[in-house]
Formats: sequence, C-alpha cells, structure tokens
Amino acid sequence: MTAYDELMAFERDTQALGQIAGRLGWDQETTMPRGAGEQRSEEMAAISGVIHARRTDGRVGDLLDQIDDSKLHAVGQANMRHIRRAYERTMRIPAKLAAEQAKLHSTAQGVWAEARENEDFSAFSPMLMQVLDMKREEAAALADGGDLYDALLDDYEPNAKASDLEAMFNALRPKLVDLRERVLNAPNQPAALSGTFDEAKQMKLTRHLARTFGYDFAHGRVDKAVHPFSSGSGQDVRITTRTNEADPFNCFYSTIHEVGHGCYEQNIDEAYLLTPLGEGVSMGVHESQSRIYENQIGRGAAFTGWLFGEMKDAFGDVGVADAKAFYGTVNRVNSGYIRTEADEIHYNLHVLMRFDLERAMIAGDLSVSDLQDAWNERFEADFGVAVDKPSNGCLQDVHWSVGLFGYFPTYSLGNVYAGCLNKAMRAALPELDAGLAAGDTSAATGWLRENVQQYGGLLQPRDVIEQACGFAPSEAPLLDYLEAKFGAIYGV
Ligand code: ZN
Repeated sequence: MTAYDELMAFERDTQALGQIAGRLGWDQETTMPRGAGEQRSEEMAAISGVIHARRTDGRVGDLLDQIDDSKLHAVGQANMRHIRRAYERTMRIPAKLAAEQAKLHSTAQGVWAEARENEDFSAFSPMLMQVLDMKREEAAALADGGDLYDALLDDYEPNAKASDLEAMFNALRPKLVDLRERVLNAPNQPAALSGTFDEAKQMKLTRHLARTFGYDFAHGRVDKAVHPFSSGSGQDVRITTRTNEADPFNCFYSTIHEVGHGCYEQNIDEAYLLTPLGEGVSMGVHESQSRIYENQIGRGAAFTGWLFGEMKDAFGDVGVADAKAFYGTVNRVNSGYIRTEADEIHYNLHVLMRFDLERAMIAGDLSVSDLQDAWNERFEADFGVAVDKPSNGCLQDVHWSVGLFGYFPTYSLGNVYAGCLNKAMRAALPELDAGLAAGDTSAATGWLRENVQQYGGLLQPRDVIEQACGFAPSEAPLLDYLEAKFGAIYGV
C-alpha cells in the first residue's frame, strides 16, 4: 500500500464520520423528539471530538510528508490539495481555542435568540464582543501575518480574496440601489398573492417541483424544518422546506433553492464518493447552483408560466388573472428588512452590508458597541427606510453569534456566479425556454450537471465557474439580467 492509498483509506472513514455527524444534525432539525436535546448535544460533541482527533492525527502528518503530489494523477493531486489544506488549517488553531469557541458559540446562540426576542441589542453585545475577540484570535493563527478576514473567508471560499470581492460588490451596490428606486417608484406594481393555501397540498406540489428539477428521491428526501437547509453528500442528500398557509411561494422557492444544493451533491461523479472531492467545492459555487435553480430558472417567465397552471390545478383560483400577471406576482419587489425574505434586487444589498460591517469588525475598525448604529445608518442609505426594531436589524441573522465571519459574502458571490452561468447556459441552449414553459428543466439541469456539478472538488472554485462559462466571472452578467428582467416587469 502506498502512503497515498493509506492516507485515502484513513480519509474515507473520516469522511464517513462527517456524513454521520451531518445526519445527526439533520435529525435534530426534523424528527428528533423534543426532550432529546441534551443527550443530542453530548452525542454531537462526542462525534466532533472523534473527527477532530482524526483530522489532527499524527499519522496524517507523517503520510503527508511521504507523498510527492507531483507524481500523482489529477484526481490524486486534487485530493491532496484538500487534505493538506484542511490539515494545515486545523493544526494552526490551538486545541484550547477551538474548544472554548465551540462552548462560547453554543451559549452565544441562546443569548442572541433571547436578545432578539426582547428586542435588546445591548443584551447580546457583550457576548458578541467575546465571540469577535476569539474569532480575531483564530484569524491571526490562520493568517500567519496575512489578512485576517481573508483567512476566515478561505474556510468557505478557498483562495478568494476580500479585496476582489469588495471590488465586485462595490460595482454592484450603486446599480442595485438605483434599480430598486426605479422599480419601487414605478406606477404599476404587481399584485401580491391572496388567499390561503392548504399546507398538505403545498407539500405535494413541492415534491413535484423537486422531481421536476431532477432531485433524486432514491437518494434523498424532503422534510419540513423551521429553516430550510440541505444536508449530506453522495448517496444520501436530504433537503428540508417549510410551509406557510398564506405564502406558498415561500415553500416552493425554498424547496427549489435547496434542490439546487441537493442536486449539486447528488450529481458529483460517483467515483469521488467519500473522498474530499465528493462534496461541493465551496459555499459560493454551492450557492450559484441553488440560486440559478431558484431564480434564473425557477422565477423566469417560462417556468412560472408552467407553475401558474400547476398552482391552479392544486389550489383552484389563485386570485391572479393570467400567467403574465403571475410572473409579476412571483417577482414582486419590496424593501423588507429581512435578508432571507428579500427579492432578487434587495438580496445582495443585504449581504453587501453584512460583508462591509463584519470586515470592519474583524479589522478592528468597527467596535461591537457601534455596530447597531452602523447597521441602521447603512440600511437606511441602501434601502430607503429606517430600521424599526433590532429583530429587523442587526439581530436578525444567527451567523455572528455562532462565529460565522467570512460566510456572508459567499451568498453574493454565488449570485454573481449564477448570473455568469445563466449567460453561458442560455448561449449554449437557445431553445431552453420552450422546455421550461412545459415544465421540463432537463436541458438546464443537464447543462449544470455537465459543466459544474459533476466535478465536485476536483477544480478550484473560481476555475469551475470560469471553465463552465468560458469567460472570467464578473458582476456584469448578473446586473444585465436583473436590469432586463425587472425593467420589463415594472416598465422602467
Ligand atoms: Zn443556499
């Protein structure tokens, strides 16, 4: 057995344990009995401990020293890129810091939830200060003299640089602000959906939608959870959605979004199963798949025309005159406070704001005590309305309480990538809309499987997108798409 084979065999079991830990998390959010929480945290801590011990096992370091990557085939080299990177990152963080962080994040999440409930930022800020201090300590350990924020970003988007994202986002922001103003001031606004929509019927149609987008139920399942998510890789990729009697779009588009994540995992080359290549390569590339399924395909005029018919079949009269009006209803723009409920124009403005604020916090340029004011000021500038309460402002997202700094920008990077992929896909498939209008997504999902999803972790994140598109990714295709789409719907 070569050192490479030995390392890959060791890695395979670590990957399998990682899948088990993920499934425990899935179970906790879907079917776990209410009273099992305490035992579950102990179970989760135990399995994370086992995985952490394997990731820092001296044998991994020894084997890595024996392997000459240049002698390996392309797949072997890619595996080594992932294993070396993960090993180096894990070894840089002192065990004591990692343990303290895990404990702090679980406490901070509870404090955040209570502060949000009570609309009291000052109840959360001392906790956030501690989380931030430890995060900066972690970043310093990882950065080794380099940029602190880049070191954190690298965990979610390997090789990305915050300065590149900043340039991209600064080009997006004024154009989005301008477009939102024109759209919201347009004389003709699309009608909102009205009425109530049976939740069992929503779940039936949502499963039909998942199938329509190519989600494989032999290797997945759809359950309900408070916050929709996808979980698992390889042969067991599960997604969740939610229902709301007044808003079936929440259910359908949460499902289509998670199906995008799920199909990415399901469509990776099966030769990569339980290896570092057997899962999506980065958060940004992952989000490009969920967002292109959800928006460029799922909220397009062709597909919503088909969905209109499906909704009438399921619910009878939905209070919208025809497919054209329905397309406007699906794509209604309004300047809400909440990121996760935002339309395609506002969504990135939410993310860009968090990116700038968290980068300033990590750099030491913005203190936690000034965060709420900085948030409210920026929100009013970009959204044109004042924040009315903390739960609609800087207490709305869980991310910072659990130390997720460097994660937010991958949402917008994913949207930028989705814009690029949509441009390339439509150039390659000029007849695409004819299929979508009949509820057939196979040409689109097949193109994405072939050009993006099958590669898993083989290529670097940005390279997967650039290879699929045939041009260097930029924000321009996303802006062109938004301008054309909302310009037409709103007549601006
Ligand atoms: Zn997502």
